[in-house]
Amino acid sequence: MECNLFYTELSRGIYRISDSLHGPNSDGFSDAPGRATQNSYLIQGQEKAALIDLAVDTPDLFSYACQLTGLPTQVLLTHGHPDHVYNLESVGEAWLHPDDYDLVLKGIPGICFPIHNVVLNPLKDRQKIDLGERILEVIHMPGHTLGSVLFWDKQSGFLFSGDSCSRRLLYGLTPTVPLDEHCKKLAGLAEFPINHIYTAHDRCGLPKAHLLRICELIRQELPKSATTVIIPGIGIMRNLRWGDENTLDYFDMAVEESYVEGLLK
Ligand SMILES: [Zn+2]
Repeated sequence: MECNLFYTELSRGIYRISDSLHGPNSDGFSDAPGRATQNSYLIQGQEKAALIDLAVDTPDLFSYACQLTGLPTQVLLTHGHPDHVYNLESVGEAWLHPDDYDLVLKGIPGICFPIHNVVLNPLKDRQKIDLGERILEVIHMPGHTLGSVLFWDKQSGFLFSGDSCSRRLLYGLTPTVPLDEHCKKLAGLAEFPINHIYTAHDRCGLPKAHLLRICELIRQELPKSATTVIIPGIGIMRNLRWGDENTLDYFDMAVEESYVEGLLK
């Protein structure tokens, strides 16, 4: 797949690595809110670096990240969906919550193939990853997948949320927890000092208020939405599309119907 990697230094030692061919608008390098993009994050400590997600579809991503800091680099995965583990086999090793191991090792029927030649190491809730003078904290948040995690960097106050807290949310692709449980966990993140939320598919930082905003939309607006959407390989899902894609206050959710029913009980 053709790809043009570039990076943006979001804060000292924190890089967003993106693909200019798939920008949020016609300017491939823009960090504006817009259509879905692909973004990985590289966090640099004194001793090593962490690459959060293999979320840009090119075999060059890992070597690009390693060259950026010149440090040993470990790959941390927010979850096991195929668009977060591009070229994982060639990287060879990653850290992931064990509840998502099967998504990687067995694949998802109709969606993605298994990945075999890879070493997976476990991440657990509240685990601290010491990069040297910078510590990333793991927050396990079952929802988007059972093994979804977020990473919080105390130093910058940045939360790297993968697909768990984003302007778009796919829910129930594979069996997961009730939506209300997910919302409670999201709301609980308000205890963390968070400056910005960086997601895998938004090329812009989201405000902390987005956490409560999406809980509100899920609880109040989703059950009222009569719209459905067909997801290739999955089928029909309930859809809530809220606001303008070109603004921060946008939310597009596709959810398997039984989770909406569960919300109303
Ligand atoms: Zn995902």
